[in-house]
Amino acid sequence: MKLFDAHCHLQDPRIFSLAPRLIRSSLDTGIAHFAVNGVSEKDWHLVKQMSESYPSVVPCFGVHPWFVPERTTNWFTLLRQFFESTPTAAVGEIGLDKGSRGKQIDFDDQVEVFRKQLELAKELKRPASVHCVRAFGDLLDVMKATGPFPDGVILHSYLGSAEMVPELARLGAYFSLSGFLMSMKSQKAKKMLKAVPSDRILLETDAPDALPKSNLGDLYFVEGDPSLPPELQALGENPHWRANSNVLEVEKETPELPKEMLNHPANIHNVLTYVASLLEMSKEELAGLSYSNAIRLFSYEGSKVPQEG
Ligand SMILES: [Zn+2]
Repeated sequence: MKLFDAHCHLQDPRIFSLAPRLIRSSLDTGIAHFAVNGVSEKDWHLVKQMSESYPSVVPCFGVHPWFVPERTTNWFTLLRQFFESTPTAAVGEIGLDKGSRGKQIDFDDQVEVFRKQLELAKELKRPASVHCVRAFGDLLDVMKATGPFPDGVILHSYLGSAEMVPELARLGAYFSLSGFLMSMKSQKAKKMLKAVPSDRILLETDAPDALPKSNLGDLYFVEGDPSLPPELQALGENPHWRANSNVLEVEKETPELPKEMLNHPANIHNVLTYVASLLEMSKEELAGLSYSNAIRLFSYEGSKVPQEG
């Protein structure tokens, strides 16, 4: 079984130094590719470097809405230069946010920065990874004005309604599911998932964020995570490896884990299990489907992802 993490942040300062280990242990569990999304001018070079060191890393460059106020006057020129020097790159993370953190950021600025990057994705014929919090009406407006997007728009960590799916899909949207889906009511999540066309479903971790709410024994932990409780720290990166040490009864339900606990990209297996159960589909079938969707989406000109034969 092969998996493709369609959206994560392995360059995040909280896990950057651990990234080589996280990648290695995730590859061992069958994760063949990671779309690593930059969020601001400050981390694009880290994403680029990581993609040059690891064939499994697909680089993505973008200005995330939270980092719109930090952009320099030269941001768009610099972004273009990164794409010129990195033919393997896709666009992301970009988007719109009217949530608790996003509402502090001028929304007109967010829209302008988002629109420019979406137009760039279209011009370069690359997929774009999009963050949308409480702004689906505005997202639809911008997508309608600039779309359609034959090269794909990834609605990352999609938590929108089932009703919006068909119109977004017509514009070229893919629906990428993460551990955050576990915070949505399961009936609502099920209805939404069943509305998603099978050729538009993707899986992601958004690591180091979005730790799935799974049983302790099924989770991978980021060793050295300061928010990891000491008894879990003793288990190492993967509790399965140390389950015999009786350090902790790992098969029990997840106790209240600290909210800010870091997510490991190998936890995409938990997302797979959860989404497959809601879709009443086998894990193998969903893995195959989401993997081939991601391969198709990330197979643009210059891409490092080998097209499936
Ligand atoms: Zn993200």
